Amino acid sequence: MAYQAEYIWIDGTEPTRKLRSKTRIVPDGKKPPVWGFDGSSTNQATGHFSDCVLQPVFSCPDPLRGPNDVLVMCEVLNPDFTPHATNTRAAAVAAAKQYASFEPMFGIEQEYTFFQDGRPYGWPEVGFPAPQGPYYCGVGGTKLPGREIVEAHTLACMRAGLGIEGTNAEVMMGQWEFQIGVLGTVEVGDQLWTARWLLERIAEDFGVDVSFDAKPIKGDWNGAGAHTNFSTKQMRAAGGWDAIIAGCEALGTRVLEHIENYGEGIKDRLTGAHETAPWSEFSYGVSDRGSSVRIPGGVAREKRGYLEDRRPNANVDPYVVARLMVETICGAAASAKPATRRAPAKKAVAKKAPARKAPARR
Ligand code: ADP
Ligand code: MN
Ligand code: MN
Ligand code: MN
Repeated sequence: MAYQAEYIWIDGTEPTRKLRSKTRIVPDGKKPPVWGFDGSSTNQATGHFSDCVLQPVFSCPDPLRGPNDVLVMCEVLNPDFTPHATNTRAAAVAAAKQYASFEPMFGIEQEYTFFQDGRPYGWPEVGFPAPQGPYYCGVGGTKLPGREIVEAHTLACMRAGLGIEGTNAEVMMGQWEFQIGVLGTVEVGDQLWTARWLLERIAEDFGVDVSFDAKPIKGDWNGAGAHTNFSTKQMRAAGGWDAIIAGCEALGTRVLEHIENYGEGIKDRLTGAHETAPWSEFSYGVSDRGSSVRIPGGVAREKRGYLEDRRPNANVDPYVVARLMVETICGAAASAKPATRRAPAKKAVAKKAPARKAPARR
């Protein structure tokens, strides 16, 4: 029997891209073919020259439809099949290829906020809910609006075969998180965008919007991030500590380029409060949730593992953050290699910023 393929792509909305999708009925035994769409309706073309190409790049079972139906993540191409200007995946593919020998791996923690009637889901019509404190990983009563959507989304991701690793309620009422990983440079983006699409699609059935806004409510309320956990083969191997420190140092050499590409509104979120470091002051530290980059406590004990860049916004493009981290960290390691053979071993720098006392959470 013919089946349904939901073609998903990333549009050209500024400053933050949105997801689009449309359905194609594919004949039995055929693969979802290259398709197209009207780019003049998605901020990707002018009306006079409006055709854009949809190139399928990642496919998984569609958990919301029948057993043969699929979701198809696509790259947007120009009519001549070159990458469209809004296509950030193509550059991630190139970086992944260039630094393949490092075997970079990612896990991204996607935070987001449910909205209804113009305010976070479950918030009172007037005023504010009780202050932050009980919501993070909370349970019970009316504190945790949205759990039924989270449950449905988690199951959907599992049925689709995505690398969903867990979920938790966040610090602000109505804010939640799921994690996707541990996956390669391009795959983490493919799967995170697909999981975002599923979340928005499922929330639709509940009459709820999903916001990836970095600071949905101003004031003393947590923002929403997309902590990006990263490792190379060298970091994961025994004695990976030096490679982890070198990775932190490399991130410290290209601070602005990363900040400017980590999502709209990042300076409103990275204020130094609410478990963030100020965007302008790069720091890294063990177990330090008030630093830009955190080395998890367990990693410091084992002297191997991964680092967590805490700066990316919830609205970051995962293809962009993954490409930048690979280029910066693997790029520095690649150019340092010949030098370290001759020079004496670099002294291990423990950390730049003194570990601030941070609440044991997140
Ligand atoms: P926390 O909230 O304490 O920061 P989470 O449990 O939410 O931690 O997320 C941890 C993330 O670290 C997961 O997304 C996981 O995939 C990722 N991770 C674990 N090991 C590695 C690794 N070796 N390389 C890259 N990412 C990793
Ligand atoms: Mn984290
Ligand atoms: Mn979190
Ligand atoms: Mn987390």
